[in-house]
Amino acid sequence: MIRAGAILLALLVPLAPAAAQDRPPERPGETAAPPEASAETVPPPTAMFGPPAPPAWWMLRETDQELAACKLALSHLGTVYAEQPPLTDAADPDCGIARPIRVDRILPDLVLEGGAVMRCDTARGLGFWARDFLRPAASHLPGAPRVTGLRLGTTYDCRPRIGTGEDRPKLSEHALGNAIDIAAVLLDGADPLVIQPRTDTGDLAEAFQRTIRAAGCLFFTTVLGPGANAAHDDHLHLDIAARRGGWRLCQ
Ligand SMILES: [Zn+2]
Repeated sequence: MIRAGAILLALLVPLAPAAAQDRPPERPGETAAPPEASAETVPPPTAMFGPPAPPAWWMLRETDQELAACKLALSHLGTVYAEQPPLTDAADPDCGIARPIRVDRILPDLVLEGGAVMRCDTARGLGFWARDFLRPAASHLPGAPRVTGLRLGTTYDCRPRIGTGEDRPKLSEHALGNAIDIAAVLLDGADPLVIQPRTDTGDLAEAFQRTIRAAGCLFFTTVLGPGANAAHDDHLHLDIAARRGGWRLCQ
C-alpha cells in the first residue's frame, strides 16, 4: 500500500502550476521581481560606474624595480640622460609621463639632436637599436661612416594620432613618452641619411633605410615610415605601445 501511495504522489507532482516551472530558478538572495526603477532609485553615475579612470600616463608609471632595471640597461649602453619630475599637460589630462628622462646621447658618442624627453623603456629600445643595428648597418656604407647622431622629428607631444583616418583618433603614443620620430641619421664624413620615400631606388641608401626600419621592429611595437601613410613620408616613427598578445605593427 505504501508503494501505491508513492506512485500516486509522483503522478501528482507534475501538476504543480506551469508558470512556476517556466521561470529560471532563483539564486540565493534574488527576489522574484526587482523593484521598479524611478528617478529617486537610479543611483548617480559615479555610483553606477565608479570614479573616473586614472589618466593614461599614470597607468603607465613604472615601479621602482622596473625603473631600476631600465636604468641599469641604460648604464650598460652608456646613455647620457637625466631623470625629470613627472610631466603632465594642461591640454589633456591623459597626456604626460610619470617618470620621464631627458636623453641627450643615446650612446656615449651618438647624440639626439636637441635632446628628447621620453619614458625610460623608449630610450632603452632606441639604445639597443642604435648599438646593435644602426651602427653596424652604417659600417657597410661606402667609407664605413660612423653614426654620430639622430635628427629627431616629434618626441613628446600631447596630441592625438595622425594619419590614421579615424574620426575620433586615440591619443598618440607621443603624448605618453612612448614614441620617437627619426628624421635623419647623421654620419661622420658623409651627408646625413634623410628618411624619405626610397622605394625601388635600387641604391645603398634604400638598403640602409630598409634595414634600420626593419630592425626597429625588434625593439619597438610600432614602426611606421615612408609608404605607411602620407603623414610618415619624412621620418621613421618608433613606439612601444602595449598591445594585447604582444602584437606588433611594422609597416
Ligand atoms: Zn611619430
